[in-house]
Amino acid sequence: MKCTLCKTGEMRDGVTTITLERDKTTLVIKDVTAEVCDQCEFALLSLETYDRAREMLNDAVRRGVQVEVVVFTNEEEVVQAIGR
Ligand SMILES: [Zn+2]
Repeated sequence: MKCTLCKTGEMRDGVTTITLERDKTTLVIKDVTAEVCDQCEFALLSLETYDRAREMLNDAVRRGVQVEVVVFTNEEEVVQAIGR
């Protein structure tokens, strides 16, 4: 698939880092599985991945986190283990 942003790059399976913000919480999520452009690094997240990232943000907001860097995971238990 061609990149929708630069139109020349090729989208490939990879990982990216995303930053989500809500209210006073900033959550940086690393190693998010995505399709990443090999030219401009534009990343496309699947709907499930995006939903999961939002869940992780909800969790951070609930815990009153200001800034947190986490590694993306699909496992609910692991997120709870990281939380306080
Ligand atoms: Zn691109």
